[in-house]
Amino acid sequence: MPVADEFYGPTGAFRATETCDVAGYLWSQIVLLSVSGQGCMADRAERAFFNAGPATVARDFKTHVYFQSPNRVVDGSPPCPHGPGASGCSYKLSHMPLCCTAALNRIVPNYVMHMWMATYDNGLAATHYGPCKVSALAADRVRVEIVCRTDYPFNEVIEMSVNPAREATFPLSLRIPGWCKNAELSVNGTGVNAAPDAKGFVRVERLWKQGDAIRLRFPMSVSVAAGRDGNAQGAPYASVSYGPLLFALPIPDTQGPNTPNPAAKWKYALDAEGETLDQGMTVERQPMPAKWDWPLASPLTLRAKGVAIDWNPAPDAPRLPPEPIAKGKPPESITLIPYGSTKFRVSMFPITERVFKLSELKEPPQPSGK
Ligand SMILES: [Zn+2]
Repeated sequence: MPVADEFYGPTGAFRATETCDVAGYLWSQIVLLSVSGQGCMADRAERAFFNAGPATVARDFKTHVYFQSPNRVVDGSPPCPHGPGASGCSYKLSHMPLCCTAALNRIVPNYVMHMWMATYDNGLAATHYGPCKVSALAADRVRVEIVCRTDYPFNEVIEMSVNPAREATFPLSLRIPGWCKNAELSVNGTGVNAAPDAKGFVRVERLWKQGDAIRLRFPMSVSVAAGRDGNAQGAPYASVSYGPLLFALPIPDTQGPNTPNPAAKWKYALDAEGETLDQGMTVERQPMPAKWDWPLASPLTLRAKGVAIDWNPAPDAPRLPPEPIAKGKPPESITLIPYGSTKFRVSMFPITERVFKLSELKEPPQPSGK
């Protein structure tokens, strides 16, 4: 998400974006996708939806924030380090002005309404993924129902059942996420080439019959992105993603989303072992819970290495450490969970010198002009 906390500036660990911007960004990417047919717009929409989306609301959907930020390590109520509005980072019933209170209700429907789109060649396109059922016209106005069963993005497999009212020939365009390098696709058990076209879609045109089965698999891998926080004298940071999900070190909220556990350990610099940034990180999966409210007990966790550091961000002007951590305690195993499951978190991590060297970060950007 772009920074949008009323002081425009570069992405930063403690910079924020409004809840209404999450809704607006999602909508903008969906419109750009429908105009251009470029799957990368849907990649952006999915990333915003599965990460920034759930962070806007409490798990019971009764309260919401005005501002969310990649790192939220203090209550923030008051003071809130992000722009005017001292309690903007707290989960409340409503915030004045009501832009965020109103717009947050657009996030889920706008995503769901655009999981499928019609195509100019009388086909259907799967544009955003998740469990769903669509009923639409394809071919020569034949009613087609498609049911998607999946735990995506917490799992890699999406199974679809295609049910046209009568046998009909039409194309199905399936989006292959840009982060996925070796997608797998089969129709009724037979493998189909899943290499995407220039716009990021695989087009399958055939005579579709009742009960035809599509199986998609999007193998996920850990990706570590390093950069510099332009708001903190170019402090180096790294963030960790897996498929479309951003990962974070959770600071458990003990009595609601405005109360962090004061005993939680979160002052770590991200470390690495081996020759690449993702080496040594392992993924663990558990069955999906029956009720889904973005729990701290996530069905998908990631084990990484962290070095405990001395770091005390000031509540009114929090910052990342300005330099990579050269000396520290021995690395510990830390458990990361999806950003959307956290209310207090670190997702833009301070980094050790080892991560700094592996990421080949350039010199920090110099301030330009006024
Ligand atoms: Zn707003």
